[in-house]
Amino acid sequence: MQGYDVVVIGSGPGGYVAGLRSAQKGFKTAVIEQDKVGGVCLNLGCIPTKTLLESARQIDSLRKADEFGIKVNQFEVENAKIWERKERVVDNLRKGIEYLFKLKGVDLIKGRARLVNEETIAIEECSEEVKAKNIILATGSLPLELPHLKFDHKTILSSDDILEKGSLFSSLIIVGGGAIGCEFGSLFNSLGVKVTIVELLENILPHEDWEISHALELSFKKRGINIFTGRKIEEVNFGKEEVKVSLSDGKSIEAEKILVAVGRIPNSRNLGLEELGVYLRKGWIVTDDYLRTSVPNIFAVGDVIGEVLLAHVAMFQGERVVENIEGKNIKIDYKIAPNCIYTFPEIASVGIKESDLKKMNFDYSVGKFPFRALGKSHASGETEGFLKLVVDKKENIILGAQAIGPDVTNIISELVLAIKNRIKIKDILETIHPHPTFSEIVPETILASLNFSLHLV
Ligand code: FAD
Repeated sequence: MQGYDVVVIGSGPGGYVAGLRSAQKGFKTAVIEQDKVGGVCLNLGCIPTKTLLESARQIDSLRKADEFGIKVNQFEVENAKIWERKERVVDNLRKGIEYLFKLKGVDLIKGRARLVNEETIAIEECSEEVKAKNIILATGSLPLELPHLKFDHKTILSSDDILEKGSLFSSLIIVGGGAIGCEFGSLFNSLGVKVTIVELLENILPHEDWEISHALELSFKKRGINIFTGRKIEEVNFGKEEVKVSLSDGKSIEAEKILVAVGRIPNSRNLGLEELGVYLRKGWIVTDDYLRTSVPNIFAVGDVIGEVLLAHVAMFQGERVVENIEGKNIKIDYKIAPNCIYTFPEIASVGIKESDLKKMNFDYSVGKFPFRALGKSHASGETEGFLKLVVDKKENIILGAQAIGPDVTNIISELVLAIKNRIKIKDILETIHPHPTFSEIVPETILASLNFSLHLV
């Protein structure tokens, strides 16, 4: 029986990063993976969706080539090739992780892991067992199914199903207007599919600042995406070619496919956790602030702990958990985790929203600046969107940032740094930002919060 200092179960962003860091620190390390290396993020999430969205973005550019003085008489979208490119990108990155494992001395064990006791893990496929002084659970999450919209993987699809190769459909109903639903909305809209989004709550992206959700809704409608909010699906009837959905307001809509994107459930079943006394809350693994479960040598990171279901948070936890195994006690401040949504236009946010502060008796100011007032936006033909900053008037620091528009998923990093380090707004204003760039929106929005705007009419 092989013995390790650290065994990680799952090779998604939480697990593979923990494995690499652990080996770097000199721990004898193994990562056990039952499926493809890279987890949901690489195989069924971040990377495939962003690769497909890049093809969609290129298609949109061709559609507006005329605006840039380029005559494109005709172009053809080859769906099969778009999906092939996605497979290639994912394959290459997967090989990259496997190579890194070899390079840094991480043993990759293929198979389904199950805990026998707090130091022994059975690998189901090969009826082998490994010993571990420390175990990191990084088993991720799965798509949530609705009782009246069970995945049949042909017409009623999960996000996993819709990423599989196949001929493109003509119409799609997306149930759930969250980040995943909206990203797929942008993708299939650009690919020429008739898209309808149905959201139970009053707004799409209900967790974002209201102004951002509202701006995306308007933009989506301009692009021809139908949106029904504040309504739920009452009934589903399968026809020969199409499926008909009745909404709670009596309206009915038809489409060739339905994508259900209403959330995720923890992947914590049949791991032997309950038998060992690892606490779970509705299936999510409970950890303390240091990512330790109720069993002292068993840790957990990533989606399965249900804190923030994002790949960069899982990676961050993957690094920190190894430092905690080493004996440091590192806590993660989830309030400063950025949230990025790669719709057209993009959305990014971090920190406190104005609506949160409104409820408190707090002295704050709000600055808002539109991209259309930047030279770079006009040069690029991307004038849609704005940045909104919430500023603590007493401390003169930024508390929250919400943005919609070009490149905001990159711009947000400056604001994460500012919020995390309580950088004074005057220090940001005294930092020269390159011109012309979209990043100029940061000092411009700070000036707007001070009612001292240079470029705003
Ligand atoms: P996962 O990536 O879920 O990996 C878990 C791994 O554990 C899997 O490979 C699984 O096979 C393995 N496993 C499970 N049980 C066992 C077992 N018993 N034995 C062995 N192996 C096991 N996040 C972002 O930050 N940015 C994005 O743009 C983004 N886009 C997304 C788009 C979609 C469509 C989806 C679904 C998600 C997206 N996410 C995005 C979320 C992101 O994918 C997850 O937050 C991230 O993958 C979680 O990482 P993880 O390491 O916790 O687990």
